Amino acid sequence: MKTIIEPFRIKTVEPIRMTTIDERRRLLEEAHYNLFNLRAKHVLIDLLTDSGTSAMSQEQWANIMRGDESYAGSRSFYELEAQVKAIFGYEHLIPTHQGRAAERILFSIVLKEGDVVPNNNHFDTTRANIEYQKAEALDLVIDEGKIPSLEHPFKGNLDTDKLEAAIQEHGKDHIPMIMITVTNNSGGGQPVSMANIKAVSKICKREGIPLFLDACRFAENAFFIKEREAGYADKTPLAVAKEMFSYADGCTMSAKKDGLANIGGFIAMNNEDWAAEARNILILTEGFPTYGGLAGRDLAAIAQGLAEVLDEDYLRYRIASTAYLGDRLAEMGVPTVRPAGGHAVFIDGRAMLEHIPPEQLPAQALSCALYEHGGIRSVEIGTVMFGKTDPISGKELPHSMDLVRLAIPRRVYTQSHIDFVIEVIKDLNDNKEKIHGLAFTYQAPFLRHFTAKFRPVP
Ligand SMILES: *Cc1c(COP(=O)(O)O)cnc(C)c1O
Repeated sequence: MKTIIEPFRIKTVEPIRMTTIDERRRLLEEAHYNLFNLRAKHVLIDLLTDSGTSAMSQEQWANIMRGDESYAGSRSFYELEAQVKAIFGYEHLIPTHQGRAAERILFSIVLKEGDVVPNNNHFDTTRANIEYQKAEALDLVIDEGKIPSLEHPFKGNLDTDKLEAAIQEHGKDHIPMIMITVTNNSGGGQPVSMANIKAVSKICKREGIPLFLDACRFAENAFFIKEREAGYADKTPLAVAKEMFSYADGCTMSAKKDGLANIGGFIAMNNEDWAAEARNILILTEGFPTYGGLAGRDLAAIAQGLAEVLDEDYLRYRIASTAYLGDRLAEMGVPTVRPAGGHAVFIDGRAMLEHIPPEQLPAQALSCALYEHGGIRSVEIGTVMFGKTDPISGKELPHSMDLVRLAIPRRVYTQSHIDFVIEVIKDLNDNKEKIHGLAFTYQAPFLRHFTAKFRPVP
């Protein structure tokens, strides 16, 4: 088999620059060992997130010029609405400035204090927005999804036995909606099978509970189904995506992921009453219903992005290039979440840095080391993001895993960039005992990872 190549050529270039290790040591200290505090110009290869970092195509840039900036009834809105109907199949489109605004609006309508929302794994903003409504975000991913080294084709699946038990325990009156995140970002970017979506949908229908997909990476999930699930090999990614959405009642979406856009999001759903309520809140906090939180040009770019993201050559390259990084790391003995996810490779920081106890934040320490030694920015997904500090003892209560996510921006980096990343990680792995743990010196009450400060533990 020949190399799966980038199915595009480069028309606009953006320079990136190397810094020295002494500069990076100083910058790390100034950033309080929180990579969110770095200036992007000091980063060589930015794998912090795949969110809003995609390179847009010539057609998307052309659509930026074609965007209709009318306050009401913008042509760009109707273009996006038609595209969303064609792929997602839902009746009502509520455009928001990004995914978390879609979450906030939806949850403020649907949830009341004491409610429970099951999901395979809630993403951090999803969990925070549910908790902000004084409801509980329940993670019910299959047990296989919690064992980083285990190979399984659909580690993002939601455990239907656990779901049945949760419905028994809390009662369906306290579960106003059930969600499935495709692909499962917080669980390693792992896909969810069609069979699983179907099974969860059946339970939801039986109980009369609406099912919503957190659809940020729906196209990547569709391609995994095509590659890995029997009966889908000959279907187009569009046909697979349409089938996925047909089992749910709506979705929340961040267009910064599989919208291939730099900003944007939406809710799409069939429930007319919820849509009407959502539009009222939209007007209050985002904007008029035909632009939401976006400029017309952004709506137009997203409409085009949604068409391009389902291109089979694109998806084959996308999934293959992430697997390339994951497989090279696995071959050199770096513990990673297996198999590689769609948008990211997750290094098991706790397993790699056995000498750093979870309370000393091994994945945060590893992500700082990656920056120090290679100018590479990644993000911790573990105790810093999801753990808690015990209010009484002041001790860190570690999360179940301590992962470092290397998220791959869409259509941005070439294979030689990724080869460089692999070389830096190899050096770090060969000298890992030199990496030190970290301790919090500041944390905020919500989403603490964005603004936390740390100090090295000698
Ligand atoms: C990014 C993301 C969100 C939130 O979207 P934003 O556009 O960043 O607000 C929600 N869920 C998942 C799974 C995500 O990856």
